[in-house]
Amino acid sequence: MKKVLAFDIDQTLNVAKTPITDDIAKLLIKCLDHFEICPISGQKFDQFLIQIVDRLKENDVTDTELTHLHLFVAQGTQYYRFDGKEWQQVYNFPLTDEQVQKITVSLEQAAKELNYWEEDKLQPGDEIIENRLSQVTFSALGQKAGTEAKYAWDPDHKKREKIVKRAKELAPEFDFEIGGTTSINAMIPGMNKVFGMTHLLEELKVEKKDILYFGDMTQPGGNDYPVVKMGIDTITVRNHEDTAYALRGILGVL
Ligand SMILES: [Mg+2]
Repeated sequence: MKKVLAFDIDQTLNVAKTPITDDIAKLLIKCLDHFEICPISGQKFDQFLIQIVDRLKENDVTDTELTHLHLFVAQGTQYYRFDGKEWQQVYNFPLTDEQVQKITVSLEQAAKELNYWEEDKLQPGDEIIENRLSQVTFSALGQKAGTEAKYAWDPDHKKREKIVKRAKELAPEFDFEIGGTTSINAMIPGMNKVFGMTHLLEELKVEKKDILYFGDMTQPGGNDYPVVKMGIDTITVRNHEDTAYALRGILGVL
């Protein structure tokens, strides 16, 4: 019997960068009664609140249930836990300013050389490269672009593979991973989901075999692949409907 259900967020629990549906929220609340629930994603803490926690509250999650929710923010380089009253940061491993600068310059130069720098398509106040403290994230059309435009931009990952290849030449000391629909996450090698999952094992005092992980980018090069390589049991989903289907199966046999 698994003790922990861990989830990628974008395309696994939601439509990328949007709040989870009522269906997923209700299923997650049921799961909180039986498992420790650990979303782990490259996104910032505030997005975890908007996309997941607020939706759980709208579906009447209790404070006690929330104490079983563990937020592994920025690929698990930050960890937040609910103490029954408020969210507490348990740990944080940020990049230095110099590291952020070097990654930012390399991604921008790579995208510009390849003609994939879409600054003209950004919405007001939006940005392509975002400092997420423990990682830097490139979002080709910005954070606020519409879902359809994002899906259409790089469905076969080819553009991002080229950007990654060039950025890696410019800043070889960093790792660049493809995630979401238009994103590339850059971080110190090892500061990927393996880092987050390794800390999860420590913090929750569980073993790899106790965890079941859900992700949509489990192929080599995808941002869920490091979890597969660690030897954690993984369910590959195409979207949140697949995840809902699997969760119904799990809850159905409890
Ligand atoms: Mg994903």
